[in-house]
Amino acid sequence: MNRDDSKRAAEFDRVLVQREQELCALLGAREAQIDSAGAALDVSDFKDLAAQESLAVVDEAQAEHAAHELEQVLAARRRLLDHSYGFCLDCGQAIDWRRLAAMPATSCCTSCQSAREWGRQPAFH
Ligand SMILES: [Zn+2]
Repeated sequence: MNRDDSKRAAEFDRVLVQREQELCALLGAREAQIDSAGAALDVSDFKDLAAQESLAVVDEAQAEHAAHELEQVLAARRRLLDHSYGFCLDCGQAIDWRRLAAMPATSCCTSCQSAREWGRQPAFH
């Protein structure tokens, strides 16, 4: 890695750590919501009810998505540590920096990504 790359790596790490914290907070809110759901029957305090409603914005699909993204973020941080970050896991080619800037947790290049998506999706669209 040249000096420019290590500066970029530090920048990506910063972005990934930030995203990790956001996702952990979101998943934490989701868990708190599940915990408080059991106690909800006893709640007579309107302030508590309002707090629960604000947590209710984290629905199950969102939580699942966040958990999945968190895995990707953690995997990307591991790749930063072992210097394999920025290379496609599928074909081994360097991933375009602009793609990484847009999606720091991505693990594959544009062409492998579209190959994956085509493989996953029905062919009729
Ligand atoms: Zn690739």
